[in-house]
Amino acid sequence: MIDVAIVGAGPAGARAAYALARAGARVTIFDASHPREKPCGGGVTGRALSLVGDAIDAETFPRTVIRRARFAPDAIVSLEDDGLGTALIVASRAAFDAALLDRAISAGARLVRARVTDIVARRDSVAIDTAMGRSTADFVVGADGANSLVRRRLVSPFRRDQLSIATGYFAHGATSDEIAIEVTAQPAGYIWSFPRPDHLAIGICAQADAGIGAAALRARTAAWIDATGIARGARLAPYSWPIPSLAARDYVSLVAAGPHWCLAGDAAGLVDPITREGIFFAIASGGWAAEAIVGTASVQAAARAYTERVREEAGRELARAARLKAGFFQPAFGRLMVRALQQSSAIRAVMADLIAGEQSYRTLKWRLLRTLELGIAWTAWSDSSKSEG
Ligand SMILES: Cc1cc2nc3c(=O)[nH]c(=O)nc-3n(C[C@H](O)[C@H](O)[C@H](O)COP(=O)(O)OP(=O)(O)OC[C@H]3O[C@@H](n4cnc5c(N)ncnc54)[C@H](O)[C@@H]3O)c2cc1C
Repeated sequence: MIDVAIVGAGPAGARAAYALARAGARVTIFDASHPREKPCGGGVTGRALSLVGDAIDAETFPRTVIRRARFAPDAIVSLEDDGLGTALIVASRAAFDAALLDRAISAGARLVRARVTDIVARRDSVAIDTAMGRSTADFVVGADGANSLVRRRLVSPFRRDQLSIATGYFAHGATSDEIAIEVTAQPAGYIWSFPRPDHLAIGICAQADAGIGAAALRARTAAWIDATGIARGARLAPYSWPIPSLAARDYVSLVAAGPHWCLAGDAAGLVDPITREGIFFAIASGGWAAEAIVGTASVQAAARAYTERVREEAGRELARAARLKAGFFQPAFGRLMVRALQQSSAIRAVMADLIAGEQSYRTLKWRLLRTLELGIAWTAWSDSSKSEG
C-alpha cells in the first residue's frame, strides 16, 4: 500500500486525499489551519460543484445562489434567464473546505493538525517535518496554496511577475443575490463583490509587479464601497492574499511533478488569469494527482502522467486565457463590453457562460466574432494581446 503525504487541506489537498483514500492508499494530510476562512471570493462554478457532488449537496449547502451579475455602471447579465440556474454559487470557504475535508477523513484519510516546516526529497521517499517530528512517505502532494512550501523546497517559489495581489474587505452583515463587477483601468483588472450568505467578499486584484501596493489597492476598494453604497452599515474586515497569475509561456514549461512529489491547485499555478477561478482547478488537479499516483506502476511514472495531464487539461486553456488577459482589461474594451452587454442578448449569454466557467477560451473568439460590435473589438483586443506570452 502506497503512503501518501498531502500538505494542505484546501480543495486541492482534500480532494486528492479523498480520492487516494478511496483507492486504498494510506493518506496523511497535514494542515493546522482548519476551521478557517480563506481570503477568496468563494465563487464556485457548476463545473467545480459537479466534481464534488458526493460532499456538497448544491441544493442544501449554505450558499448564495447567484441570479445576476451587474457590470458597472448598469449592464445586467441574468444567469437564470440564460438557462444556467444554479451555475454559480458563492460559499464561505470555511464551510466549503470543511465539507471537503470531512469527506476525505470519512474515506479514511488521517488529518494531522500541524504546519509542515520542511520537506526533503530523498532517493526513495520524502521526509516531512512538523513541530511534532519527522515522518516519511512514498509520495507527497503539495497542495499548500500560493505560498507553497513544497514548491519552494522542490521547485522554486513563484516569481513576482507570476503572482497577483488580491485585497479587499469582508463586509459582515450585508448580502445580495447578485455579483457586482467594475472593470478598472488602473490597475488593469476589476473590482468585485461576491455575496455569501451573511457577508460580501469585496476585492480588487493587480499583478504583483504592476507597481501598485496592497495598501493603495485596498484604499481603491474602500473608495468603491463608499461610492456604490454596496456595504452600507456592514462591518468591514480587511484581507490580502496572493493569487498565482502565470503568463502563457509559464504554462508551456510548467513543472508540476517529479519523482515522489507533485503540486496541485494554487501551488501548481492553476488559476484562470482572467476570472481568477481557482477552486475548479484545485479540485480537478487533486483528483488527477490521485489517479496518477494509484494508476501507474512507479512514482516516476506517476509524476510523468500527472505533468502531462495538467498541461493537457489545464495548461493549454489557462495559457489561452493568459494571452487574452492584456486585451480583456483594456479600458476601451471594457467600455465596449459594457455597452454590448446592455444591447446584445448574445453577448450576455457569452458572459454568463464565462462567469459560470462554461465558456472555453478556445471557442470564445468565435462566439464573439459572430457578434458585430465585439467582432470589431476582437481585432483590437487580439492585436494588443500578441505581446503577452
Ligand atoms: C481574494 C481572492 C478571491 C478569489 N476568488 C475566487 C473565486 O471566487 N472563485 C474561485 O474559484 N477561486 C477564487 N480564488 C482562488 C482560490 O481561492 C484558490 O485558487 C483556491 O483556494 C486554491 O485551492 P488550493 O487547495 O490549491 O489552496 P488553498 O485553498 O490556498 O489551501 C491551501 C491549504 O494549505 C495550507 N497550508 C499552507 N502551507 C502549509 C504548510 N506549510 N503546512 C501545512 N498546511 C499548509 C493552508 O492552511 C490551506 O488550508 C480567489 C483567490 C483570492 C486570493
